[in-house]
Amino acid sequence: MSFSNLGLSLPLLEAVRIETYENPFPIQIKAIPAILQKKDLWALAPTGSGKTAAFVLPILDLFQGKTAVKSRAVAALVLVPTRELALQVDQTVKTFANSLPRNVKSMAVYGGVSINPQMIHLYGTDLLIGTPGRLLDLLSKKAVDLSKLEILVLDEADKMLNLGFKEEVDEILSSLPKKRQNILFSATTEEAVAGLSTKLLHEPVRIEI
Ligand code: AMP
Repeated sequence: MSFSNLGLSLPLLEAVRIETYENPFPIQIKAIPAILQKKDLWALAPTGSGKTAAFVLPILDLFQGKTAVKSRAVAALVLVPTRELALQVDQTVKTFANSLPRNVKSMAVYGGVSINPQMIHLYGTDLLIGTPGRLLDLLSKKAVDLSKLEILVLDEADKMLNLGFKEEVDEILSSLPKKRQNILFSATTEEAVAGLSTKLLHEPVRIEI
C-alpha cells in the first residue's frame, strides 16, 4: 500500500514525499480515506502509531479547495489533553502545510501562558489546536468563533477524560454547530470514551490498530 492509493491529492502526496514518509502506517491506510469521504471516525490507536498524520493529512487536503479564513471563525478544531500534544500536533500541521499551494494557518492554544498573544494571533486561523480549559477562556472572551466549525477532532480522548476535562469538553461540544464531521482518537475503549463516542459520532467508521 502506498500513500497514492488513499485518495490524497497531488499537493498532499508531494508534501508527504518532502517529509520522506515512504509508506503509510496501518492507522493512516484506514483513517485517511474515511476522513476524505467526510465520515465520522472512531479510531483506537496508541501514540506512536502515526495517528497525527492520519488526521492532519486528510484535513489539510479538505482545506485545499477552501478560501482562507478572514475572521475568528475556525473551520477545524483539534482538542487535546496537554500543551505538549497541542504543540506536537501544530508542528505536524505546519510541516505539511508549508509545502501546500493553499497554506493552512494553524495555531496551538493552551493554558499556563499569557492569553493575550493567543487572542491576537487567532485571527485568520483555519485549524485550531487547543486544550479544553484555554479554549473555553478564549470562547468567553470572544477571541474564537466556533459557529462555522466543520471538523472536530478529539485526540487522546481517553486521556482528556482521565485528566478531568469531561465538563469542559461537554461545554465546548454544546457550543458547536450540529452539522459537522467528528473524529475521535483514543488509546483505550474505556467506558467514559465509549459514552462520549455515542454522544458525539454519527454512524462512525470504526478503526482498531
Ligand atoms: P504519532 O503517533 O502521530 O505521534 O507519530 C509517531 C511518529 O511516526 C512521528 O514521529 C511521525 O513523524 C512518524 N510517522 C508518522 N507516519 C509515518 C509514516 N507513514 N512513515 C514514517 N514515519 C511516520
